[in-house]
Amino acid sequence: MAVESFLPGTSEPKTTIEKEVRQKPSVDERTTIETPGRQMPADEIEQDKMQVKKPKKRSAKPKRTAEEIEFVRDSTLIITEKPQAALKIASALGNARKYNDNNVSFYELTRNSKKIIVASAVGHLFNLTYAEGERGWPIFKTEWVPSYERAAFTRRYYELIKKLAKRAKEIIIATDYDIEGEVIGWNILRFIVKQEDAKRMKFSTLTKPELEKAYDNPMPTLDWGQAYAGETRHHLDWLYGINLSRALMSAIKKAGSFRVLSIGRIQGPTLKLIVDREREITAFKPEPYWQVFAHTHNTPYKYVKDIFNKDELKEFEHIKEANAATTKKTEHVEPPHPFDLTTLQREAYGWHRISPARTLQVAQSLYLDGLISYPRTSSQKLPPEIEPKKILKTLEKQFPIAEKATRQTPIEGPKSDPAHPAIYPTGEVASLDNDEKKIYELIVKRFIAAFSSDAVLARTYSTLTAEDKKFTANGTAVIEKGWMDIYPSTVEESTVPDLNGPVKIDKIEIAEKETQPPKRYTPASLITLLEKKNLGTKSTRSVIIETLFERGYLEGKSIQATPLGMKLILSLEKYSPIIIDENLTRDLEEKMEDIQFKNDNRKEKEKAVLADVERIIGNIAREFKEKEIEIGQALVEGSQELREQQREQSIIMPCPQCKIGMLTIKYSKKTKRQFAACTKYPECKATYSLPPNSLIKKTDKMSENNLPLLMALRKGRKPWIFEFNPNYKKEVQKDKNSNQPSTSS
Ligand SMILES: [Zn+2]
Repeated sequence: MAVESFLPGTSEPKTTIEKEVRQKPSVDERTTIETPGRQMPADEIEQDKMQVKKPKKRSAKPKRTAEEIEFVRDSTLIITEKPQAALKIASALGNARKYNDNNVSFYELTRNSKKIIVASAVGHLFNLTYAEGERGWPIFKTEWVPSYERAAFTRRYYELIKKLAKRAKEIIIATDYDIEGEVIGWNILRFIVKQEDAKRMKFSTLTKPELEKAYDNPMPTLDWGQAYAGETRHHLDWLYGINLSRALMSAIKKAGSFRVLSIGRIQGPTLKLIVDREREITAFKPEPYWQVFAHTHNTPYKYVKDIFNKDELKEFEHIKEANAATTKKTEHVEPPHPFDLTTLQREAYGWHRISPARTLQVAQSLYLDGLISYPRTSSQKLPPEIEPKKILKTLEKQFPIAEKATRQTPIEGPKSDPAHPAIYPTGEVASLDNDEKKIYELIVKRFIAAFSSDAVLARTYSTLTAEDKKFTANGTAVIEKGWMDIYPSTVEESTVPDLNGPVKIDKIEIAEKETQPPKRYTPASLITLLEKKNLGTKSTRSVIIETLFERGYLEGKSIQATPLGMKLILSLEKYSPIIIDENLTRDLEEKMEDIQFKNDNRKEKEKAVLADVERIIGNIAREFKEKEIEIGQALVEGSQELREQQREQSIIMPCPQCKIGMLTIKYSKKTKRQFAACTKYPECKATYSLPPNSLIKKTDKMSENNLPLLMALRKGRKPWIFEFNPNYKKEVQKDKNSNQPSTSS
């Protein structure tokens, strides 16, 4: 992953999510500047009624002396990961007042006659980079530097924490409780506050009761397991990222071309999985086979085996009667377990087609709004401490169905997580729409379902026996819906007759089928597979997949490798198989887990892992440099094929004006939108506008009027298929009520 951190326009996972959250400006961002010293009750802040004031010019006040600073060391400073969390914590702990310093908010309050200041980072305030003097590749010496060297806006947060820390007699780290959060807190502590350790607030929801509890009973130290495991991961991913990307870029440059290429520690093995699947599909030879059905009482009974030898079909021709036996069983189906992140991502994709990366992003914002618990969890369990019955009671107002949650203890899944429980709603209410509403309701329903009664199904198993041949038909009826009333399920009802004894067979039906190639992965099945293979972490898997798409290695909803992705894997397999070796990266993953969960010699273990990585990257470098030209040529070819393919995919239809060129989908950097134009430009100036604020793609279908169908993709919306009609304008003049999209020239 670390490669993203030095390529323009990309960032490591947490920052990516952060970026998206920023699109919707928070109260903090909208209120902008406030003169230091002006007080503002926190409840007013929430309503966003503040007036914007111009910042005061800094007067040339003499700097305070060390004695004066010592004199004001009177507060406890709580440091959070995001501005929104600072506001939540401050409001939870007391009657907070908001201050602004250089356009960054912080809060002050008194609790048990102790002065508390709450301030925040904005995600990472430090990034890894190569140590001075490190050129070319491979490079191994890295160091933490302030993020403001590349992301200037983080400087104001850095400076404010520095200032406030000087007034603090005690520091409490209250970043998100996971490895990323721990690294964020640790870096602030050692590089800004210049302190070795601090108290740590641990919480899973941004709700008042839990935040009060976390403040009143803080952990005495940082979670060093998370801190060292997190730091190791940063170094590891950074070293992998920068060295492999430099290797690829250098190879492609030697082959006389240029393209931004990268491959990360997890990206390589992930891409290989997809390419391997593609190869299975290509190599697949469909085979015919037959299914045999015996019909009686208007019901088809299927022969228990599929038949691959056509000759065997003769054995069924003469069957005219059979012996029937039917048994009935009542089956209790337990509710599904509560959500861990991967299951939430899978279900959100399954029911709503929301991508895993988008689901994580939405869940993160629901968490920051205090509506759900921390989403980056592997747990499928709900401990009693979260007081689920209270939450259910609160949910009843909004979701009356919650009164059906009568189970005393919830159904739980096998997976647990030492840091957080399963994802659950806090009971707090907000009006939501679009993806937020869909994800939130899915979480609420799943939570209520876990406390609901079993569904009761009546299963009917009916068998026909003709000589030595067995045919079956099964029926299902829902007797009690139980949890299925609350959470969607895929159970389908069907009936079969209650037959016993001799029956007449009305006909034998033979259906010819063909074996199917393995299915391509969807974003949801791919993250499930990565989890099963222990590749990446719950927080990063969905982001890794998105990155592979952004790099041009993958395409399509059912995921396919592009020519570039195929060529990349092909050449790596041939010349540098270590890069895509999933065992190697899994082994590193296990070592980091060991650092996180086993409390011994963490520092030494971190050193050992990094030494491993140096050795691995050193080997890769040797292999790679020997075969640089071959690898480079393969990548250039893949790159050209991809460009060619993309060009073909953007062709809409022959140009209706010059009848020589082709209308293709183009992007205007000036207007920042797509449009259709003729390939014969500038001789032919035919242009047509396309719907704004969407990504327009060609479908391979034509409309009833034999015009090409295009697809407009918009974040959080269903794809919109529309007809591209170059004669649109004329038709509108004929019929003003026409409902067609604006494809006018
Ligand atoms: Zn033209």
